[in-house]
Amino acid sequence: TANDKYAVFGNPIKHSKSPQIHSAFAAQTGQQLSYRAHKVDVDKFADAAKSFFDNGGKGLNITVPFKIDAYNFADELSGRARLAGAVNTLALQDDGTVYGDNTDGAGLVRDICENLAWEVTGKRVLLLGAGGAIRGVLEPLMKLNPSQVLIANRTVEKAQQLARDFSEFGSVGACSFEALNANQYDLIINGTSASLAGELPPLPSDALTDEGCCYDMMYSAGPTPFMRWGAENAAWAVSDGLGMLVEQAAESFCIWRGTRPTTREVIDAIREELEASQ
Ligand code: NDP
Repeated sequence: TANDKYAVFGNPIKHSKSPQIHSAFAAQTGQQLSYRAHKVDVDKFADAAKSFFDNGGKGLNITVPFKIDAYNFADELSGRARLAGAVNTLALQDDGTVYGDNTDGAGLVRDICENLAWEVTGKRVLLLGAGGAIRGVLEPLMKLNPSQVLIANRTVEKAQQLARDFSEFGSVGACSFEALNANQYDLIINGTSASLAGELPPLPSDALTDEGCCYDMMYSAGPTPFMRWGAENAAWAVSDGLGMLVEQAAESFCIWRGTRPTTREVIDAIREELEASQ
């Protein structure tokens, strides 16, 4: 109904594109709902979420820094949320309990495989970073059967821990950025928050194969430092993470409403806006 309330909780939240994305999905699928962005105090997540659901809220998206709080808040967890150790989607169930899921990994894989049509199966994949974003995408990526996955992180122990946690899904190694030399990768995914500070992890200039692709989970108006690195080092293709953002939202929408919106026109509309704001 028009009273079905959804929201995204985060801090900061001002620049969130989620209200715009979900409004576009609702219009496209003819669903009546409202979707707002709420800035939540850092130590108040559980109170705010409880009050939201007590007051008729149907579902939440969760962004930085609350994905672990949301994991703890959920009464029931999906397998992929459990593996990710984090929740980005909460949904009220018919019995009044709250279900926690994580759609980030599915969003990344859908963007890479469907929108960009990059091949992952049989390819060598290098992941930069070992935080929540990389943890959330490891299982769906490894299920595509890349020939090799290597996680490089500034704090190497965190990469090693992730490699141990996901070894049951295939061959996965870990190293520091300094140890990245003399090897080439077909796909490099940047899941560090370095781009936010306009920085780039120290990568050897010959890390890409001839047809190598670069994917930055971050998105911005212009190319990120990692996308520029890719272009300078003859990447076959580069992409930012806007498609991932829209795809993880589509997956959340599908959990809540039981219908999958199409994403292409929403990605294009936000891209146009970003470019106009430059
Ligand atoms: P975390 O804080 O959990 O992890 C941050 C990671 O970045 C760590 O591995 C950290 O290394 C590394 N890092 C930070 N600064 C630097 C630096 N200057 N040089 C090298 N490494 C650095 O963050 P998340 O994993 O939650 O998020 C990471 C990124 O992914 C964010 O930019 C976020 O916007 C993006 N993201 C995008 C999504 C989308 O839909 N497009 C969805 C989810 C996330 P160390 O361990 O050594 O501290």
